[in-house]
Amino acid sequence: MGSFLKNGVVAIDDSGVIKGVYEQGDVRILQEEKEIYDGVLVPGFVNAHCHIELSHMLGKTKRGTGLPKFLAEVMKMRGSKEKDILRAMAEADAQMWENGIQAVGDHVNTELSAEVKASSRILYHTFVEIMALSKEDIQPRIDRARDIEFYFNAAHSSITAHAPYSCTKDLFKAFRRTVHEDNIFSIHNQESDEENKLFRYREGGFLDFYKEMGLNAEGFRAQARNSVQSYLSHLPKNNRLILVHNTFTSLKDIDFVNRQDRDVYYCICPNANLYIEDKLPKILNFVPDRQAMVIGTDSLASNDRLDILEEMKILVRYFEHLDFMQILPWATLNGARALGMDDVLGSIQVGKRPGLVLLEGMNNLRLHDRVTLRRIA
Ligand SMILES: [Zn+2]
Repeated sequence: MGSFLKNGVVAIDDSGVIKGVYEQGDVRILQEEKEIYDGVLVPGFVNAHCHIELSHMLGKTKRGTGLPKFLAEVMKMRGSKEKDILRAMAEADAQMWENGIQAVGDHVNTELSAEVKASSRILYHTFVEIMALSKEDIQPRIDRARDIEFYFNAAHSSITAHAPYSCTKDLFKAFRRTVHEDNIFSIHNQESDEENKLFRYREGGFLDFYKEMGLNAEGFRAQARNSVQSYLSHLPKNNRLILVHNTFTSLKDIDFVNRQDRDVYYCICPNANLYIEDKLPKILNFVPDRQAMVIGTDSLASNDRLDILEEMKILVRYFEHLDFMQILPWATLNGARALGMDDVLGSIQVGKRPGLVLLEGMNNLRLHDRVTLRRIA
């Protein structure tokens, strides 16, 4: 990964499996029938973070409210007729396929998306979220998450803690006892500075949110350090972990995480961060560890589209140090590794079925707003 071929030729079979990758003029392909495209051919994208079951909420929440108010809105408004939710999910799935997305890390609270996923051409890893603030809710919620997980692809599902502000220390402890080593975690991390305020000082917007929603906030104590430095030790050490958002993750937090010697990926969801908090993570703090960066769209409750190419455009627009070749692995192979799918997709490599996406309008491998995409396979 990271290399490109000028005038390269990719051979695929009818099912999309890569049979060969050749340089122009290779004698092995001279006689073969070829389709010629003008553009940059890349593997299908991996959307490392989504909530497809919130697809019916497109355009329903206010922008720029900050996370606690956004969450309150989603919790109050997410209820809808099942057939409307199912239809919106089917549309979102089709939209992601058209947008060149080959695999998705998708968070759920219900089994409603199981059918859409089972019949999709996209490969999903489903993360069943657990959240509980009261002690008596912990075990029933874990049991319920296990029941939900049962509806999804056994090789590509896991249970996960939802977020630091929705899980107490007791929940993390109980959770730790119940998971196997191959269970991948995906946790919303430092999406709002209010989360850090909650963990540092036990104050801020989350206390108002708990009060408004009638939730018990007693499980939180002032810890004099940011959230990730407080909760990470409660998670089992050997499980792969995707930290999602990281909008308010400091250099000190990154150092702390890196010193733990864990298998961690940092997922960036630029459009959703702009939608909810009007702020982007300090991307350049993470960049030295490029292997660990992945990209997500989050849900249609906080994004106008589920389109990884659009997320990449935001990154190169806001961070002029980033270029296309640097972030392409974030959108493809790194995401495949994070979701345990790199044996079948994420790069144009013989034996894989990564999907093929043609980017048109690129200028010397430079990504800009007028670049469009077309799915080839
Ligand atoms: Zn999310």
